[in-house]
Amino acid sequence: MTSVPLREVLSPEYLDAEDDLRTLAHKLDSHRSAAGRVAWHWYPGTEPPPTSTEPGETAGEFGVYHLLVDATIQLYATGADWLELTLDIAWSPSSKVTVNAAVEVACWCIQDHNMHQVRRTQWHVTNSGEMVDAFTAGTAMLADILDKGPFEPQPWRILAGLPDPSNTKP
Ligand SMILES: [Zn+2]
Repeated sequence: MTSVPLREVLSPEYLDAEDDLRTLAHKLDSHRSAAGRVAWHWYPGTEPPPTSTEPGETAGEFGVYHLLVDATIQLYATGADWLELTLDIAWSPSSKVTVNAAVEVACWCIQDHNMHQVRRTQWHVTNSGEMVDAFTAGTAMLADILDKGPFEPQPWRILAGLPDPSNTKP
């Protein structure tokens, strides 16, 4: 997060949150289970986005999110399987600023969806105070997983009732 130019990414009404966001992000970056695994990206553009899909946008099952800043924490990765935690600030499909925290695993369905979000929480925010509250809750959700795991994708898929290599073999 140190390298993210938040002033180029966030609208003025959220800039009072900058110090708190950096403090919270640093706590996440330095968690013992996350150290060296966190990657931050940002996509300057403080105006609400057009509705087209462009780089920095992600089309999820809830619509197109226009990312402003995001962190991915890769907990497990082989050639074929992976588990990742994500935290982002984005414009929602309805052009509201949202903070999103999620657990993502590789898809093992017969029809390939690429990825499944097996846990996801999001908060709409309208000012710096709400931004800090949401970021606090989002980093806490991820820190809880970093404390306890599971650190492999299989248990998450089974918990979510998704096909898994271990239960699709005869
Ligand atoms: Zn799938």
